[in-house]
Amino acid sequence: MKRKILIINTGGTLSSVMKDSGLAPGLTTIDMQKELHIVSGDTDLEIEDFCSLDSANIFPEDWQSLARRIAEVKNDYDGVVVIHGTDTLAYTSSMLSFMLRNITIPVVITGSQLSIKNPVADAMENCRCAIHMAASGIPGVFVAFNRKVMLGCRASKVRSLSFDAFESVNYPNVATISSLGMSIDEKAVPQRNGVFHLSDSYSSEVCMIKMFPGMHRSLLESLADQGYKGIYLEAYGIGGMPFVKHDFTGTVEKLINQGITVVVGTQCPYEGSKMDVYETGRRALEIGVLQAHDMTGEAALTKLMWILGMTDNPAEIRDYYSINIAGEVTI
Ligand code: ASP
Repeated sequence: MKRKILIINTGGTLSSVMKDSGLAPGLTTIDMQKELHIVSGDTDLEIEDFCSLDSANIFPEDWQSLARRIAEVKNDYDGVVVIHGTDTLAYTSSMLSFMLRNITIPVVITGSQLSIKNPVADAMENCRCAIHMAASGIPGVFVAFNRKVMLGCRASKVRSLSFDAFESVNYPNVATISSLGMSIDEKAVPQRNGVFHLSDSYSSEVCMIKMFPGMHRSLLESLADQGYKGIYLEAYGIGGMPFVKHDFTGTVEKLINQGITVVVGTQCPYEGSKMDVYETGRRALEIGVLQAHDMTGEAALTKLMWILGMTDNPAEIRDYYSINIAGEVTI
């Protein structure tokens, strides 16, 4: 029997057209159906429009609605493909990995660097890969791009122009396409470890800050005044922060004592934090920061939003943050 796949279109370059105001999403699924059917292989394809946005305009409430829509249709399809702008795609795929944890079907997010109507675009190839993965019967949230399939919570956009825009960070690709066809590395697919239930709450009182030499501590202090409940701080190297001339560690301690959760990660794209090595990291660990380890920034941030949407209890936050939920972290 043919696999039934639903394509949900949210916009992005893949569906873009040149307008007087610049390149912007404009094609609907009706406009794209011919191209999508060409790459649908042996599947039974249905397509629907969810929104038509450049992904800079996608916000957490869209992640929630998308998760709800996917949960609603999951028993009617063998797989779902989401067409999405590439700029914030990895944030969406990370959050969907948490909200849809233990999903029973493949959910594959894709996009492209050129519009599907452009004859030299990567769009059809990316959709072909996404549809093929969605028909694989392997459950989970994935990103398909440039003949690679990555775990949704490990993908990151690392190139702004090239077709090879995404990489799986600190984690192997789940599948690659070559002259041998699609080869899936089943060991790289996290096992489902419970029954699926939609877990779509999140906190929008979370912020992400990149530390830089000369940053004022007052910036961190002002976040508490603005009501933020969680901060993801991209610190230096394996997770160090200053304490000599400007005592950032002391400022972070004050925030933690006010009930704010502070997660520390690294600005380095690869290999993650290891805060127990240097004094600059150990001091931060001692005052109670959580560590991002080898998570991508996108996963570290959305995991914090997701957990703070479920609980305010510091012990529960620490426990949840310290476990591997969807394959996002190696602990
Ligand atoms: N600005 C576009 C977006 O993220 C870029 C893309 O889709 O490649 O929606």
